[in-house]
Amino acid sequence: MAAERSPVAYVEALVVSVPAEGNAFAEGLEETLLVRVTDEAGNYGIGESVCTPEVIKVMIDQETIHFWSQGIADIVVGTDPLEAKATYDRVYHGSFYHGRRGTLIQALSAVDMALYDLAGKQMGVPVYKLLGGARAQRIRPYATLYPGDIYDGSVQTILTETRRQAEIAVDQGLRAVKVPVLFGAENDPGGVSDRTIVGFIENCREMLDEIAPDLLLAADFGYRWWDWQAAAWTLKRLEDYDVYFAEAPLRHDDLDGHARLADVSPVRVGGAEFAAGRWEVREWLERGGVSLVQPGISRAGGFTELMRIAEMCEMYGAQLMPHSFATGITDVANFHLQAASLTVPMVEFRSSRLGPSRLRAELVSPPEPEIVDGYAELPTGAGLGIELNEDLVAANTRLGY
Ligand code: MG
Repeated sequence: MAAERSPVAYVEALVVSVPAEGNAFAEGLEETLLVRVTDEAGNYGIGESVCTPEVIKVMIDQETIHFWSQGIADIVVGTDPLEAKATYDRVYHGSFYHGRRGTLIQALSAVDMALYDLAGKQMGVPVYKLLGGARAQRIRPYATLYPGDIYDGSVQTILTETRRQAEIAVDQGLRAVKVPVLFGAENDPGGVSDRTIVGFIENCREMLDEIAPDLLLAADFGYRWWDWQAAAWTLKRLEDYDVYFAEAPLRHDDLDGHARLADVSPVRVGGAEFAAGRWEVREWLERGGVSLVQPGISRAGGFTELMRIAEMCEMYGAQLMPHSFATGITDVANFHLQAASLTVPMVEFRSSRLGPSRLRAELVSPPEPEIVDGYAELPTGAGLGIELNEDLVAANTRLGY
């Protein structure tokens, strides 16, 4: 049902912080920077940024100094949420002093998501309709089987945990998984060898084939190599294991190395996970030569910029599989993005069933979509179609920033 239409009254940037449980991929605290954009009638939309929360909060709350150094909230207050794309460009141009790329785009990501959520609620339609409507018939999430901070354990220990999570993911209806491959080895000269890496992937493929037929396997190398030839040696040996893509093989900023690797690799090479904005992603497509880009909706510019990136990928014959390792807000935002895009074949999805995470399980409801035989239905409900757990936010917002 549509709510009353009115302009933005205020913008809140909230550092939501809970004690980390188990393998939440955090040091003691599990945090997100939550943005709530409220209109004059009291309706609100939500978004989040996966960047360091207090850094992002400053970008949003900053007082305007002059026309190239404006605070994001200062620009957004008074605007029509339905004009989020125009607002994005106003913020981009109004923050040239400190922005254009990097953390400013990450902050803008959260605000843009919240504006779309609010606009959808005001109009009574799902966000993907505001993005132009459904171009995919169903959503295909893939599960990231992050084993937790156990990389000082044996390879067998990591395999055992990976298998445990793979079985849960398949039980949850997922049919595509990504395996982080022995992270941390790059900083350890005595760490695992490239031959061990190949053996690990071979074991993962065998293990998945035992669990269910035709499971899609992707591999995340966690920025393992400095040397594109070492990466090429390894990726060539993975040809027989049906690895759908190789994420983060080289240092993030080594675009020339990625181009050389992509030239010779039998496995699709991914990149741009930490890219912010379409200009950076274009460099990955042009100079980096990758055919898969992985910028995140809560990092690379929200719906506005991810839609531009999705359309740019069409011009390069490239795929967009957005990064997501945050809360249910980002996960469901990705569902709307895939629904509205031609070039998004899968979206990353980190179920709270795979590892304890209070924010993933409780920040929004429903916390996780239903997945059957590898696919989820298009989202329903106005805006993002999720409700914020206001009690959790009120009790766990860090003050003093
Ligand atoms: Mg990643």
